[in-house]
This record gives sequence, structure tokens and C-alpha cells, in this order.
Amino acid sequence: MRRPNWVPEGTDLDKPNAARVYDYYLGGSHNFEVDREMARKAIALWPELPQIMRSNRAFLRRAVQFTAERGISRFLDIGSGIPTFGAVHEVARAVRPEARVVYVDRDPVAVAHSRLLMADDPDSQVVQADVRDVDDLMSRPEVAELLAAGEPVAVLLVAVMHFVQDADDPWKLIAVIRDALPPGSALVLSHASLEGRPDQAEDHQRLYRMTPTPLTMRTVEQITGMFAGFDIVEPGVVYLPQWRPDQPEAVGEHPERMTGVAGVGFRP
Ligand code: SAM
Repeated sequence: MRRPNWVPEGTDLDKPNAARVYDYYLGGSHNFEVDREMARKAIALWPELPQIMRSNRAFLRRAVQFTAERGISRFLDIGSGIPTFGAVHEVARAVRPEARVVYVDRDPVAVAHSRLLMADDPDSQVVQADVRDVDDLMSRPEVAELLAAGEPVAVLLVAVMHFVQDADDPWKLIAVIRDALPPGSALVLSHASLEGRPDQAEDHQRLYRMTPTPLTMRTVEQITGMFAGFDIVEPGVVYLPQWRPDQPEAVGEHPERMTGVAGVGFRP
């Protein structure tokens, strides 16, 4: 198979990669058969997965648009995956053409793909860092430079903090990021929660055992606690489709089936 130009030399295309599997769920084209095979296995265990992922990505789009409309043109996207399919720089620039984005991910494969995709974009940077080592992340030159201007920054922690276990204290990590943000900055966060789907607990456990990146599901109260020091905007921390839907019908009858909650808050 010919190597597409967004795939760095030396990438092992025989191993599935979580970011490319996610791209497949979204309906993107940045994935390979080995990724699709992995996705199909997961879908067999949990058929609603693609819909859940798309619902999350749709929240990301609405929230980026919302924060851009509120005047923000700097974005720090932590746990960004591969910036394809409704990427933050594209959504933000539809509102603010001057928008700048720093993409951060810990996964070297996702970072390598991202760097090639963003190579010709002087206003987007890609950083390999782990949110659990938050001091290292915040001291990276690209991140420090994004914050240095003193302009508000939207920090995106979309579908990433459930990969951080309680032992690493996700609340404290977010507080460190918060304290580095200029006034008027925003936190955009979504997080997996089974609170509305206790019937899915067993399926989730099975899926959890087969993935190399296990998820920590949290309650709505625990997730709301991540917004400490931010003023949460209406409608609050709600199921993914309920957050400022494009049309009321888009919410559907069972938003809790999307097993994720989301919200946006601003620093006073
Ligand atoms: N934020 C994108 C979205 O919601 O569409 C992608 C979310 S994807 C489900 C989660 C991403 O978080 C993956 O690319 C993974 O590599 C990254 N990730 C997981 N744990 C991380 C950590 N501790 N630090 C940085 N990135 C992490």
C-alpha cells in the first residue's frame, strides 16, 4: 500500500491506533483497515459507539463556535487526536479568521499525523505532551506563547479527562491550567458518564478490558467539579446533545444514551 502523505515514515500500519479508530467512528478518512477492524470489534460490544463519538464531536464544534463568537481567537486543544473532520482551527476560523490553535496530544502517532497535516499552517502548532504532567505541558514554548499575549484562551478538554485516573487528580490538573489563564478565558469540557445508563455498566466493563486506554466514568457532580473557578454558562453541565443544540429536534428522545456530559465555563 502506498503511504499517504499525512502518514510519517516508519509508522507501523499493522497496529491499530486509538486516534485513527476515533477518526473512523467520526466517518473520517484518516484510518486504515487495522483501525477499522478494531472499531468493528468495539461496535459489536457497544453498537452506539459511533453515534456517541459523533455527538461528542458535534459538541466540540458548537462549543468552539460559541467561544469564538464570544470573542476568543486562541485555542489550546488538549487531547486533540488527529485534527481532521471538523478540526478546531477550521471551525474557529469560520468565525475568526485570525484564530490560532495549539494542538496537544500524548500519543506520538496522533502527533506525527497532526504535524504533517498542519505543516503549512503557521497559526497552528502541534505539541506532544501529557496532561498528567501539567507543569511540563504549560511550560512548552508553543503553549506559553499562546498564553503570553494576555488574550483570553479557550482550553478544550474534550473527551480526554476520562483517560486520567483519580490517582492523577484530574481536578487539580485542571486547576493548574485554570490558574495560568488570562481573564475571560474559557474551559470547554466533555467527559464520559454512565450516570444516565446504569444498564450499560456491564458492556462498558467488557469494552474497558479490551482497550489499552481504559476510561474512568464519572458522575455529573464530579464532572461539574472540574469547572471550579469558572462561571458555567447555560444550560450547565448536560448530556452532550443537550448543550446548545443547533435545533431542538437534534437533542433526540434519549440524550443520556450518548453517555457523556459537557459544558462550557468562563474565567471571570
Ligand atoms: N478531543 C478530540 C475530540 O473530542 O474530538 C479527541 C478525543 S479522543 C477520544 C482522546 C484523545 O486524548 C486521544 O487522542 C488520546 O491520545 C488523548 N489523550 C489521552 N490521554 C491523554 C493525556 N493524559 N494527555 C494528553 N492527551 C491524552
